[in-house]
Amino acid sequence: MHDKTLTELAAALAAGEFSSRELTESLLARIDRLDGELNSFITVTADAALEAADRADRARAAGKAGPLTGLPLALKDIFCTQGVRTSCGSRMLDNFVSPYDATVVEKLAAAGTVSLGKTNMDEFAMGSSNENSHYGPVKNPWDLAAVPGGSSGGSAAAVAAGLVPAALGTDTGGSIRQPAAFCGITGLKPTYGRVSRYGMVAYASSLDQGGPMARTAEDCALLLGAIAGHDLRDSTSVARGVPDYREELEASLSGLKIGLPREYFGDGLAPEVEAAVREAIAVYESLGASVREVSLPHTELAIPAYYVIAPAEASSNLSRYDGVRFGHRCENPTDLVDLYKRSRAEGFGEEVKRRILIGTHTLSEGFFDAYYKKAQQVRRLIRQDFLDAFEDVDVLMGPASPTPAFDLGAKKDPVSMYLQDIYTIAINLAGIPGLSVPAGFVDGRPVGLQILGPHFAESRLLNVAHRFQQATDWHRRQPAFGKENA
Ligand code: GLN
Repeated sequence: MHDKTLTELAAALAAGEFSSRELTESLLARIDRLDGELNSFITVTADAALEAADRADRARAAGKAGPLTGLPLALKDIFCTQGVRTSCGSRMLDNFVSPYDATVVEKLAAAGTVSLGKTNMDEFAMGSSNENSHYGPVKNPWDLAAVPGGSSGGSAAAVAAGLVPAALGTDTGGSIRQPAAFCGITGLKPTYGRVSRYGMVAYASSLDQGGPMARTAEDCALLLGAIAGHDLRDSTSVARGVPDYREELEASLSGLKIGLPREYFGDGLAPEVEAAVREAIAVYESLGASVREVSLPHTELAIPAYYVIAPAEASSNLSRYDGVRFGHRCENPTDLVDLYKRSRAEGFGEEVKRRILIGTHTLSEGFFDAYYKKAQQVRRLIRQDFLDAFEDVDVLMGPASPTPAFDLGAKKDPVSMYLQDIYTIAINLAGIPGLSVPAGFVDGRPVGLQILGPHFAESRLLNVAHRFQQATDWHRRQPAFGKENA
């Protein structure tokens, strides 16, 4: 059962091949057997999962099953879950049991899905390797010496290892697409505002967006339909109807205009990754698409602008962790200031502290215009680059990451880690949707093809990804890790 896609599992449940309880039990057993080594879950909610599975089976027996009823999945531990620890990968929230559900959690439960638990992640979603987690690094099922990518590394590794058929992630600068690429799965970052952020622990509010991670684009379409939509509790969510994202999956790609951003194929791109990406693009040509080069001239400013804006928003968002209302509190504070200082010093890890310091500095009087305001102006130019490109082409394609997954412990300085995000970060600054699909391997480690579209073009992106997956089988490959007899 563990090697089936969400769509296949839905069909098998509908046909009565097995029950949601049987499926859930088998995946829980797999998690039990394999996750000690992988570390992709922070919390496994076995009892709640079995209850939800039984409810789903009863709903089905009563003729009330929807398309997602009884399907198991996992949630990045950034989504608030009522009665369940929501740690955000941080010591600060290690003892935090959320009193409410995030909107997407509520929606998935209402759709009848079965959450198996909360997945590991970089602390407060800050990172590209999942090495910043308070709960230890996650390993990449394709090669246990490699990172799974970050910050949604637990979600990506769990799907790749067949512990769950799908998971939710969040993407502030690449955290759905890059781990999806590193783990050989499909991950979609929706348009900013498409999916409610209510109950999603905030990192950088103008960039954060939740989205699906699964084996196939078809599965992502199914999940996106369940989580997207306007939410009165998130004023940045967009009041716009939610289409059935599966409707356009089969549309022909004949005449599709693909743009290849020159800046995404330059220095720093590993030649083997480039070769895999170009081969994928050749597949599109064989499907009737045309390809031309385009330019996104402000690309090199994306990382500097992001690393001003994201830490600024983070320093503001993370000021709520003061040791008073919730989260970690130090022992025996001498006074209020001591309580703040030591609770925060003990609760936050190194990378989070670094970003709070950067953000506090750039927002301070005298530096605001030079850094924050300037970065916002650059952000506007980056967005315009994409809008201009989409005048001429339907989608943009390129690598999701300059290299395949790197070794655990390989990147020691923060800047070399930040440079990992060179092809993903501008997308968040522009607010457009993007996805990564499996497109090959380099020395046994997966490569992701990134596909970008204009605001709210999710249906088109999923269609473009789905047609590729009908023509290739990269997304069907599975790691040796976790094979019954391996
Ligand atoms: N790697 C980027 C960062 O560290 C992006 C993380 C994310 O998308 N959450 O901020």
